[in-house]
Amino acid sequence: MRKPIIAGNWKMNNDSFETEKLMNTLLPLVAGAEVEVVFCPTYLGLQKAVELAKDSNVGIGAQNMHFEKSGAYTGEVSGEMLKAIGVKYVLIGHSERREYFNETDETVNKKAIKALSLGITPIVCCGETLEERESGKAEAKVVGQMEEGLKGIDDITKVVVAYEPIWAIGTGKTASKEEANEACGWVRKTIAKMFGEDAAQKVRIQYGGSVNPENIKDLMAMDNIDGALVGGASLKPTFSEIVKF
Ligand code: PGA
Repeated sequence: MRKPIIAGNWKMNNDSFETEKLMNTLLPLVAGAEVEVVFCPTYLGLQKAVELAKDSNVGIGAQNMHFEKSGAYTGEVSGEMLKAIGVKYVLIGHSERREYFNETDETVNKKAIKALSLGITPIVCCGETLEERESGKAEAKVVGQMEEGLKGIDDITKVVVAYEPIWAIGTGKTASKEEANEACGWVRKTIAKMFGEDAAQKVRIQYGGSVNPENIKDLMAMDNIDGALVGGASLKPTFSEIVKF
């Protein structure tokens, strides 16, 4: 009943011209995928990407947004601006944003609420560090991020959550499918507590962290995993093997 969703997080890779090229390479390859497919290029590539994806099965997402509409926030881009060019998704609170750009659960919450109010699907990220996992604090970390990041949301069923253990991002070290499924279960349980079991059953939860064409099938077979957020492997033509696992 939950439609799987697989998103490519292109991070700070590809200038506008390279983005156009990658779009043209990937669009025909991912056509016909049964899952919902999302590409997240940099801000500079967004407008062109939306244009190119217009008649395709791919939705375009941003990697961040500000929660204010406009004003004196040098260097920022608002949700309204994303909406105006046809962006349909936005990553919120990726661990790199939290680590390098001081994103907090509070800003995550404001951004998620704002995105929803604009009809943009927020993909809210959570996940623990290696130290937190090794000291038995992974569950508490993830539950806390969800409690703070998702509070006060009107329609939780429109939110996508990405569980990404930080130690698995860009390291080639994937969480085992059991670990990933267990953690996605912590997310669902927390959402059930906050918003009720029915709503929780409708929320899509992605796993992210070194997903590749080899491990996607096993991950997607797990009952709490409804998709993937893919970094490095989303920049290659073989991303199509991931979305067509
Ligand atoms: P990775 O990145 O697939 O390169 O590990 C995932 C992410 O950061 O979203």
